[in-house]
Amino acid sequence: MQKHLVWFRADLRTIDNSALFMACRSPDANVLAVYFISPSQWQQHHVAGCKVDFELKTLQHLSTALNALNIPLLVIQTPDFNSQIDSLIELMQQHDINHLFYNKQYEINEVKRDNSLTQRLLTSNIITHDFDDQCLVAPTQILTGEGRFYSVFTPFKKNWLQKIAYQGYKIYPAPRPRKRHHTIAPSPIPTNINGFESHISPTVAQEYWPAGEDAALARLQYFCEHHLRTYKDARNFPILDSTSKLSPYLAVGAISSRQCYQAAVNAQLAHGTNDSIEQWISELAWREFYKHIMVGFPRVCKNQPFKLETNAMTWRHNEADFKRWCEGKTGFPLVDAAMRQLNTIGWMHNRLRMVVSMFLSKDLFIDWRWGERYFMERLIDGDLAANNGGWQWSASTGNDAAPYFRVFNPKLQSERFDANGDFIRQYVPELAHLDAKSIHEPHGKQQQLFLDYPLPMVNHRLASQAAIEAFKQLKHN
Ligand SMILES: Cc1cc2nc3c(=O)[nH]c(=O)nc-3n(C[C@H](O)[C@H](O)[C@H](O)COP(=O)(O)OP(=O)(O)OC[C@H]3O[C@@H](n4cnc5c(N)ncnc54)[C@H](O)[C@@H]3O)c2cc1C
Repeated sequence: MQKHLVWFRADLRTIDNSALFMACRSPDANVLAVYFISPSQWQQHHVAGCKVDFELKTLQHLSTALNALNIPLLVIQTPDFNSQIDSLIELMQQHDINHLFYNKQYEINEVKRDNSLTQRLLTSNIITHDFDDQCLVAPTQILTGEGRFYSVFTPFKKNWLQKIAYQGYKIYPAPRPRKRHHTIAPSPIPTNINGFESHISPTVAQEYWPAGEDAALARLQYFCEHHLRTYKDARNFPILDSTSKLSPYLAVGAISSRQCYQAAVNAQLAHGTNDSIEQWISELAWREFYKHIMVGFPRVCKNQPFKLETNAMTWRHNEADFKRWCEGKTGFPLVDAAMRQLNTIGWMHNRLRMVVSMFLSKDLFIDWRWGERYFMERLIDGDLAANNGGWQWSASTGNDAAPYFRVFNPKLQSERFDANGDFIRQYVPELAHLDAKSIHEPHGKQQQLFLDYPLPMVNHRLASQAAIEAFKQLKHN
C-alpha cells in the first residue's frame, strides 16, 4: 500500500494546498500529516509569541479539518531544523512511508534544511514531492531578459502579471474524505509553548485575530464586499480599518495568495475593474516581490543590507533611545500611537510601519536591524521577506528603496493621514483631550508643559539633515 506523509509548515489549510492535494490524489493511499514545533529555531528567528499563539490555534482548526478527512495530524516537538530531519526520518520509518509531500519555503535556513533532507533520503526508498505553493508565480520563475532576478518592483510586477495571464494558476479544492486505513489518533495541540508567551491579551487576540482557514476565508469575503473597491484611497488612513488584515493568515498559510488574487479577479468580473482592485493586486505583487528578492539575494536573510555599501554606515546603537521608540514614548504622537498599536494588537497599519521604520532609521539613525528584529518579536504577521523588505525600504539600504534624501516628516504624516487625530487618541489616551490641530504637535507653539507626554526626543529637521548628510558622505566615499 502507498503510504503518504504531508509535512505542513507555513501552509496551514486544506483548500488550495498543493502538497495536501497531491498527496490525496490517489484514493487508496494511506495519508498521514505532520507538523513540527521547534522552539529553538523559532527563537533564532525571533518569532513573536502572538504569532506562535495564532499558529497553535490555526493548527487546532487544521487538525480538526484533517481529522474529518480521515487524515491524522501528528504534532511533534523537536528543538530545531536539524532535529526535525532526524525526527521526520524516524517517523517515516516507523510508519513505512514511501512518499513525502511538502510545499517549499524560501528562507535560507528552511532551504538548507530541505536540501539536507533530500541528501539524507537519496539512499532511501522514500520519494519526495515538493511544490511551489507560497506564491502565484514561484520566485525563481520571474527573471529579466538576461536571466537575472529583478531588483526593481515595477518591471517585476509587469512580468508577474504577464506570467499569471499566460500560465494561469490552479486553485485546488480540499481533498475528499478518505477511507480510514489506520488507527492513528491525531496529536493533541499544545495551547502554549514555553518562552513564547503572547504579548497581546486573549480578548484582543480573539477579537482581532480569530484563527483558522474559515476565519481567513470569511475575512477575505468581508474585505472584498466592503473595502476592496475603495481600497486605493482609504488604505493610507489607519483609523479607517480599510485594509484586509489578511497578513497573519497569509503568514501561517491559513489562506493562499491565489485565493486572494482570485477573489480580486471575481470582484473585477462582477463590478468591472477599478484602481482600487488593481492597487490591492499590486500589494499581493509586493509580497511576492520581496520573496523573489530573498531568493535572488539571500544575503538579506543574513542581516546584510541589499546595498552592501551601506554596511559602512555607522548607525547609532543607543539602547535608551531604542527603548523609547519600542514603548511608543518618542514625543511624536503618530509614531507613538503606531508603536502602541503594535504592542497592543501585534499588528501595525502599513502606512505606520513606514512612518516608524523611517523614524527609527533616519531621525534616530538607529540600526534598522534593531527595528526589524523588534517587529519580528511583536508581529502576528511576522514574515522575513516582507519585514526585511519593508525595513530596508525605509532605511534606504534596500533595492528600489525610499531615496535617502526623502525622509518622512512625522508631523506632516500625522496631519495628512490622521487629520482629526482619532487614531492617535485611540492609542495615546494622554493626548485624547487635544484638538485636531495641536494633537499632532502637543508641545508645539503653546508649549503645553503640563501634558503627561514626553517632549519630542529629536529635532526632526536637524536629525533628518544629519541622516541625509551621512548618506551623502557614504556615496562620496
Ligand atoms: C517596515 C515594514 C515591515 C513590514 N513587515 C511585514 C511583515 O513582517 N509581514 C507582512 O506580511 N508584511 C509586512 N509589511 C508589509 C505590510 O505593512 C503588511 O503586509 C500590511 O500592512 C498587512 O496588512 P493587510 O493584510 O491589511 O494588507 P493589505 O493592504 O490588505 O494587503 C494585502 C496583502 O498584501 C501583502 N502586502 C501588502 N503590502 C505589502 C508590502 N508593502 N510588502 C509586502 N507585502 C505586502 C500582505 O500579504 C497583505 O496581507 C511590512 C512593511 C513595512 C514598511
